[in-house]
Amino acid sequence: MKIELIKDDITKIEADAIVNAANSSLLGGGGVDGAIHRAGGKQILDECIEIRNRQGKCKTGEAVVTTAGNLPAKYVIHTVGPVWNADEEKCSKLLANCYKNSLALAESHCVKTIAFPSISTGVYRFPKELAGKIAVKEIKNFKSKILEKVIFVCFDEENEEIYRTLLKE
Ligand code: ADP
Repeated sequence: MKIELIKDDITKIEADAIVNAANSSLLGGGGVDGAIHRAGGKQILDECIEIRNRQGKCKTGEAVVTTAGNLPAKYVIHTVGPVWNADEEKCSKLLANCYKNSLALAESHCVKTIAFPSISTGVYRFPKELAGKIAVKEIKNFKSKILEKVIFVCFDEENEEIYRTLLKE
């Protein structure tokens, strides 16, 4: 499985799936969530509402999938990252679950290429370095026969630098 790093807006990425750092309401928010809903259009929100009506809110660390509306991707995988707090161990486990569950959902949809933002490192204030370490570890540990490429999409230079260093190791 190939791992790539780019600095870009994830809504522009032509992957089979892009991952959204959603909130548990699944009804959209700021940051990457807002960008995905704005660029993807109403279809994504409609599907999120359907999911909510079926299963209720999405718990932290879990993931759900919708189609991608007007985006170049096929699917959007919405995962809810942890809001950073003093319980580093719990937060780290929940963030790892975001990657694991997103990858498993991607696999079950025969996704070959998937793009991840740096989940929880915006409004949810997860320390970027630790978040990057968890992301890279979970991607490298994921054994897949279907997935061919994972793209880390960094939106800011700090994250780009962190991922560049982590991927060299
Ligand atoms: P969270 O609530 O999980 O912290 P945010 O959207 O606030 O989610 O931030 C998560 C990460 O996504 C941050 O590193 C932020 O810089 C990045 N980000 C924001 N907008 C975009 C975008 N359009 N494409 C890719 N990454 C983005």
